[in-house]
Amino acid sequence: MNKIIRCITSDGAVMASAIDSSDLVYAAQKIHRTSNVATAALGRLLTAASMMGAQLKQKDATISLRVAGDGPLGVVIAASDSDGYVRGYVENSNCVTEHYQNGKLNVGKAVGEGVLNVMKKLPGAEPYIGQVPLVSGEIAEDITSYYATSEQLPTVCALGVLVDKTTGEVLFAGGLLVQLLPGAFEDTIEKLEKNVHDMDSVTAMLTKGYTPLDMVHEILKGFEVEVLDEMEVGYRCGCTRESLENVIIGLPEDEIRELPDETGVASATCHFCNKKYVFTQEDLENLIKKKN
Ligand SMILES: [Zn+2]
Repeated sequence: MNKIIRCITSDGAVMASAIDSSDLVYAAQKIHRTSNVATAALGRLLTAASMMGAQLKQKDATISLRVAGDGPLGVVIAASDSDGYVRGYVENSNCVTEHYQNGKLNVGKAVGEGVLNVMKKLPGAEPYIGQVPLVSGEIAEDITSYYATSEQLPTVCALGVLVDKTTGEVLFAGGLLVQLLPGAFEDTIEKLEKNVHDMDSVTAMLTKGYTPLDMVHEILKGFEVEVLDEMEVGYRCGCTRESLENVIIGLPEDEIRELPDETGVASATCHFCNKKYVFTQEDLENLIKKKN
């Protein structure tokens, strides 16, 4: 089970979210059969998306993050609903894994140079779209830069995915998202910076058995902390046969008739969950009827 906890300091100056996303990143690795570096990139982006989604609060709101770099990994996408349930996709799931000298996965090189796009959709409003150049391609720094540039919100973001080097299975994944609210004092910032500097990595804390709340206490050491809410999150794809039918109905009639392959059926696989949808010629004729 994965859990997000959201907290605020009792002086109202700092908000913090922490997540243990081990299970959902484990699920993503199984669905997409990602190489180790692809697991880390996708896992970090899913972890961030879940925390950012859980902040939206409004029902039916969604957020999507899209990392488009020129590296061998290709595009990485993660989307979350306002309950923090996520789904994601990486263009080149087999991307060759390289390491830094210290043994850490070199996610930045796999991602390359490019941009991070953030799209927020709130019900009844025009989508909000923000774009920032990638700082390092290591994802956490790119999220921090997005908040600083597009939302003018000073943010600390830490993300981690620990992969078993031989089996490729996800051992631990998690993250922290800490934001300074308007009016925070200089000493608050200094205290926070010191905590960030002294803190272990997210995966080191999870390995030690820390809960999301323990991680918040670590980054907000010296602050009085109140828990705002706690929620269960996971990997969930919202695709349905009906939504795919609507896409087909939107196509010109002659294109619908050209969809079936040599075996006489048309099939489509969802990018996010690998679920396969099959349409027979009869299904397609029925959709054409609905169109008219
Ligand atoms: Zn799906």
